Amino acid sequence: MSEMSPQIDELVGHNRDFADAFDDADLQVEPTRRMAVVTCMDSRIDVFAVLGLQNGEAHTIRNAGGVITDDVIRSLCLSQRFLGTREIVLVHHTDCGLQKVDEPEFRRELAAELGIKPWWSLETFDDPYEDVRQSIRRLSMTPFIPHQDRISGFVYDVTDGRLHDVDPER
Ligand code: ZN
Repeated sequence: MSEMSPQIDELVGHNRDFADAFDDADLQVEPTRRMAVVTCMDSRIDVFAVLGLQNGEAHTIRNAGGVITDDVIRSLCLSQRFLGTREIVLVHHTDCGLQKVDEPEFRRELAAELGIKPWWSLETFDDPYEDVRQSIRRLSMTPFIPHQDRISGFVYDVTDGRLHDVDPER
């Protein structure tokens, strides 16, 4: 094994303290709120804190942008069909890293440098509200997610911590 960075030593130390105070041994694998939250990987969003959720209450599925990719559909399919969730909450946010990238340019750079074009889309966007609507539309098109009657979308403002409701119809 390669040598651990000082940061990792620090985190492992944190884990010892965490485990000393651990009190979640009785939690069940099925989320008690029967809810799955899909959100961005952004380091500023502690999604459980934002929504006041506790461990054991909801699934969280994260990627760059909180985009509904095949892998998110995979996770939601498991979440609903095997682990009992019935409700989906989408949380996108302001100042997302994906708003800062020119996707065609990014693809050209990768192809030129690596000799291979990415076979995935980066899924950049301009408007986080429209991106939430896009996500809701994608969910509605997949047969793998049976429970679609409770889907809510929000944009989280990274400057003040507030969630803004997204009207899916607009
Ligand atoms: Zn983001």
